[in-house]
Amino acid sequence: MSSKKIYLDHAASTPMRPEVIQKMQQAMQTYANPSATHSFGRSAKALIEKARRNIANEFNVSPAEIIFTSGGTESINSILKCAVRDLNITQIITSPAEHHAVLNTVKSLEEEYGTLIAFVKITPEGQIDLQHLEKLLSETPQGEKTLVSLMHVNNETGSILPIEKVGELCHQYGALFHSDTVQSVGHFPLDLSQIKVDFISCSAHKFHGPKGVGFSYISQRNKIGSLLLGGEQERGQRAGTEAIHNIVGLEEAFLLAYQNLSKEREYVLNLKKNFISLLKKNIPEVRFNAQSDDPLHSAYTIINIGLPTDAKKTEIAMVYLDMKNIACSRGSACQSGAYQPSHVLRSFLPENELKTPNLRFSFSHFNTPEEIEKTVETLKEFVNTL
Ligand code: PLP
Repeated sequence: MSSKKIYLDHAASTPMRPEVIQKMQQAMQTYANPSATHSFGRSAKALIEKARRNIANEFNVSPAEIIFTSGGTESINSILKCAVRDLNITQIITSPAEHHAVLNTVKSLEEEYGTLIAFVKITPEGQIDLQHLEKLLSETPQGEKTLVSLMHVNNETGSILPIEKVGELCHQYGALFHSDTVQSVGHFPLDLSQIKVDFISCSAHKFHGPKGVGFSYISQRNKIGSLLLGGEQERGQRAGTEAIHNIVGLEEAFLLAYQNLSKEREYVLNLKKNFISLLKKNIPEVRFNAQSDDPLHSAYTIINIGLPTDAKKTEIAMVYLDMKNIACSRGSACQSGAYQPSHVLRSFLPENELKTPNLRFSFSHFNTPEEIEKTVETLKEFVNTL
């Protein structure tokens, strides 16, 4: 008899809320091009502008500062590339624990424009080393114009950046600040009028919205153009006909995420606390990567653990869980047939801890306490019996 499937990979993508699907189905009937000036076009445009206003409202910014894109990767590429192209940025300070959307973009900017790239150290606890960040900012050669790009919540470890403090620091040294907030939008309140951040990037499928849609926040202080060349959509900041149904789906998911935030945060945090205490009880030598004793020290949605097993079992950990109908993530890429430890964990874990299985579990309000119990039981089985 096959057991019910357990999905604990919400940092990779989330199921859409039923209300989101319903709103998207309705919006699919709106077929006119939102750039058309006739009444059909104006109705389509009105849907997009309502979504923009609702998002801007939550963040306490102007609607003109919200630009719809195809998701996190596009927002990040556009912001970093256009900041170099249009704002004369000559140095980017980032970290080795960023998403590949940031790491591969800065690499290409280094090759294409000769942009200087500096990496902030990660502490052994998996946090951005703020002293090192300040050192890098203070040592910026005269004449260089700097952009700092650091993610708010790390997608593999759940580490949280003190975004307010980093914003202060960046502005104190005259640097612009982009934060990849893909894992925090919809899960953390963000008052952008109070945070010294110039750009953020967001993706709807991380908070129960559709895939292929997101937005950038681009502060009006910094005028950048479009990465894609074409029409004048999104006030000339993102060419291409807008995907109305996706934007409406994003809006609904965004509004529901913030309406239900405190209730769902409490529920999910309890699941995480329960997971931690059951793990400690059943697998006493389990390691918690980038965690402290305070579960709120990292995102309530994500936990990364190291299993005390023989390194030979590393490659089969995910397969074992998958066979038991439990979906999580290894945070590793299978390259040329050989499993490589994740670049994020590599940035702060010692070599011996990279060899044994490290797994990321990420939760949502759709999970149940029974699923958490079953997962710990299965992990215990894996550690003890294979
Ligand atoms: N940044 C972070 C932190 C992510 O977790 C992801 C998605 O995995 C992305 C960027 C890319 O977002 P998207 O899937 O919308 O392109």
